Amino acid sequence: MCLTAHYICNWIMLNITIYLNHCEFGMTVAILSIQGDVSEHIYITEKTLKKLNINEHAVAVSSLTDFDKHETISAVIIPGGESTVILKLMKNENLLKRMKMLSEKGTIFFGTCAGAILLSTKIINSDIVPLSIIDIEIERNSYGRQKDSFETDIKIDGLDKPFRAIFIRAPVIRGTGKNVEILSTYNSLPVLVRSGKNMASTFHPELTDNTEIHELFLKQIIKE
Ligand code: GLN
Repeated sequence: MCLTAHYICNWIMLNITIYLNHCEFGMTVAILSIQGDVSEHIYITEKTLKKLNINEHAVAVSSLTDFDKHETISAVIIPGGESTVILKLMKNENLLKRMKMLSEKGTIFFGTCAGAILLSTKIINSDIVPLSIIDIEIERNSYGRQKDSFETDIKIDGLDKPFRAIFIRAPVIRGTGKNVEILSTYNSLPVLVRSGKNMASTFHPELTDNTEIHELFLKQIIKE
């Protein structure tokens, strides 16, 4: 009896140790690292967190196991890349349900370019079903091909100076729901939007050295 209790105790201790080793405590900003400009987002997110004095780190996540390792995920960033590829691999990793669940529980989301496509409610020119986290209708590759990519200065609500926006085979937001705030437009079309604390941009702030857009997003982690 005593020996059995001893074994049970050991078994419980072992499992607690395995669990503790497995978890990384503290809040994290998860960068979905399936495809696209992941390292650029990690770099600028780290830089922004430091600048804002937020005691969190950016971590790359690409599977359910990665998500499970982190005790609390305060924000998820979906990078630019190729939305069809990211979505397919997210499905393979069973990540769609987890992302929806995180969003429902209060984790905030930011998607840039392909990431914005994935956060939308409807992709006009594609059959792929996105995450529906931000109520926008979006059209892929709206400005044309790779060679039609461009850079331009845009005015952004909440920023004093114009922001150099890089559009690479960018989508266009064709419709916004009533809870969506338009923070910036280009040619009268929304290019940066916010819904609650979730944000989407059709351009790539992570490809600049300017942290201001990441600041607008990450500041919301500490805002009640
Ligand atoms: N054209 C890409 C897509 O549809 C997005 C491009 C980008 O993220 N730069 O997914």
